[in-house]
Amino acid sequence: MAFITESHLRALLSQGLPNPFRLSDGDRLTPAARDFLHDRGIPIAGAPVVSSTGGGDKLKPKAEIPVGVSNRHIHLSEEHVRLLFGQGYVLTPLKELSQRGQYAAKETVSLVGPKGLIKDVRILGPSRGETQVEISRTDGFQLGVHPPLRLSGDHTDTPGIALYGPKGLIVIERGVIVAKAHIHMSPGDAARFGVAHGDRVSVQTHGERPLTFGDIAIRVHADFSLDFHLDTDEANAAFLKQGDYVSISAGGSNAARAKG
Ligand SMILES: [Zn+2]
Repeated sequence: MAFITESHLRALLSQGLPNPFRLSDGDRLTPAARDFLHDRGIPIAGAPVVSSTGGGDKLKPKAEIPVGVSNRHIHLSEEHVRLLFGQGYVLTPLKELSQRGQYAAKETVSLVGPKGLIKDVRILGPSRGETQVEISRTDGFQLGVHPPLRLSGDHTDTPGIALYGPKGLIVIERGVIVAKAHIHMSPGDAARFGVAHGDRVSVQTHGERPLTFGDIAIRVHADFSLDFHLDTDEANAAFLKQGDYVSISAGGSNAARAKG
């Protein structure tokens, strides 16, 4: 039994944090310690399933996939960084994200659609080949832009939008999406869950308003940390927040392959 704090975890950093981080019976993490692990993409093993009933949930699968809620954000091409922020401008990392090498930048821009404007939209780095704007369906109503549900990078038949930065305005012809919810995982996790890259699974949430999300894409890469990425509309619908845990309730390789 121990009370584990962020400074305790920082002290462990030099020798490498265990991944997953195992809790013994009675161990408790402070909220800051939990964030610290989540920010580094380290899952917590032995974490209790959040149960609203406190009993009678014998068949509930173990909730061990951490939730990452994506607010609206923008990935910029190098050229668009230059047009919005000026020649030679380099984005300033503000916060590391759970996926290795990805960060939230200090910089923000405004999105302008036919119906309205959303200010201070966060830019995620590093810059990419093609600019991509990820908004929720609710944001789309505010902006007057109605993008389809797409996995990152698929810009087929997507609308454009205007972006205002401190040094300029650009109008992109396409690249606005509502991001399709997905689970990032390493090859080891994929083997453990019996799924493969490109599979679709169902995800069960365990909050105050338990929901099942269907057609959730599995993304497998050696650099990925276990994380269920969904947008603010989906998280709000399920009363989910960053750092909660969900489980895979159905699907996997066999189901996906049978469908082709
Ligand atoms: Zn993601």
